[in-house]
Amino acid sequence: MTEFSATLNSQNLKKYRSIINGLQCDASSGETIDMICPSTGLPYATIPRCTASDVGKAVSSARTALTSKEWASLSAGQRGERLLRLAELISQNRDHLAELEAHDTGKPLSQGYGDIDAAAQYFRFYGGAADKITGETLPIAVDYLAMTVREPHGVVASIVPWNYPMQIFARVAGAALAMGNTLVVKPSEDACLSIIETANLAVEAGFPAGTLNVLTGLGEEAGAALSYNPEVDFITFTGSPDVGTLIQSAAARNHIGCTLELGGKSPQIIFEDADLNKALPVIQDCILKNGGQTCSAGSRVLVHQSRWEETVDILRTAFRNTVSGQYKDNLDLGPLINSSQLRRVNTFCEQAETDGIPLIGEGTIAPDAPTEGYYTTAKVYGPVPTDHPLALDEVFGPVLSLIPFRTEEEAIRIANGTPYGLVAGIWTKDIARATRVAKAIRSGQVFVNTYGAGGGVELPFGGVKKSGHGREKGFEALKEFSVLKTIVVSHA
Ligand code: NAD
Repeated sequence: MTEFSATLNSQNLKKYRSIINGLQCDASSGETIDMICPSTGLPYATIPRCTASDVGKAVSSARTALTSKEWASLSAGQRGERLLRLAELISQNRDHLAELEAHDTGKPLSQGYGDIDAAAQYFRFYGGAADKITGETLPIAVDYLAMTVREPHGVVASIVPWNYPMQIFARVAGAALAMGNTLVVKPSEDACLSIIETANLAVEAGFPAGTLNVLTGLGEEAGAALSYNPEVDFITFTGSPDVGTLIQSAAARNHIGCTLELGGKSPQIIFEDADLNKALPVIQDCILKNGGQTCSAGSRVLVHQSRWEETVDILRTAFRNTVSGQYKDNLDLGPLINSSQLRRVNTFCEQAETDGIPLIGEGTIAPDAPTEGYYTTAKVYGPVPTDHPLALDEVFGPVLSLIPFRTEEEAIRIANGTPYGLVAGIWTKDIARATRVAKAIRSGQVFVNTYGAGGGVELPFGGVKKSGHGREKGFEALKEFSVLKTIVVSHA
């Protein structure tokens, strides 16, 4: 069993450290950030508050590692073996990591387990895929051999949000390391402990010093310094559209590429022939999971008018039965991540009430939930006008908006009528309609009679419009985390 890295500091808070060049490090300033438990509102751990000078150290260690014998001489298959070993270590330590993830983010413990298992699966998938991505030969002329090869970008900077730390870290690190890049990861200051522990496991799995650096700190300090660092070759960012804009500007300044995985207001469309018994539990589950703090939550349900009453009745009862509570109690949903997220969600709901949007159903908060925790109830509203913030903006909380429609054309227009384009769900028995609508919707993924909230390690994932660009997950990520080089040999 692995010995994990946290020690206690003078206030009895667990003290975690960044991992730079394979070593556990404090910030050069010595400053720390308190980690607050969303379930109790109390501090329970500290992380280093790294700044630009620490970023410089992490990036130069990644740059040195890139061409080091220990890393550069590994074949793709040998990199894959290390990823498989890391997957195994994550699985062996799943109890510890799941507890850490749930405690840190507030999500129910069962979801913490789901996230750790998914993270292990990412490393397993990319471990197996590392030596299966190939180039092509190109028939240009008789006396030439022309081919393409895939090479690593170099040093990849990864900036990760708090909602699915382990999963998002694993999908980036798995693919980027499989292709031979080295990494500097800046996780969220709100939830990052599972990532730190996994970076420690990576050392045990045989990743050479400097190949996987995890540097903690504030977004506007460590995150900004990392995004502007001229020694970074590629950036992958998952987070809010506003910060995504800053990241893209930083990448442009250094003339490097970036992928942006941003927000969403994903529609679920219920046509007149939909199987509601199948659709509604999935729809409810997707908006409650992680307290609705999921970029692909499916937060708008477009309901054909002929199924409106039935849908409203079922969801009213279902939402009234939901209970929010502490992560360890494994209820329908945990607390939100922090006080500002709670304020944000409450502001949307207050606005809905001021505007007279009917509240169809609302859950409860467990009586023993600590009053300082960041709890809110699950809510379903409708009918929501298509120009209302609840129909257009990402709430990022357990709030579902129902919107009625009459025709297929209207459903498509509403579905495409937000600035986002991440995922969509279509519920119908008519395969021709499902195909037409899937083709007409502008989004990165479309599910028919199911909904994966981005799910599936194998499925390419990413957005269009304000949801971002670039693809992660699946084999597509291996292309995203590599550069194609063309080589032409004359053998005349
Ligand atoms: P955020 O943009 O505030 O923070 C994300 C990360 O960026 C954090 O690590 C943060 O420290 C860092 N950051 C903040 N300011 C920065 C700056 N100026 N320069 C560099 N880095 C900076 O987002 P959040 O609140 O952590 O996450 C919520 C958002 O993320 C939602 O909009 C959600 O939809 C989106 N999200 C998208 C996906 C996806 O795959 N599409 C997945 C999860 C979350």
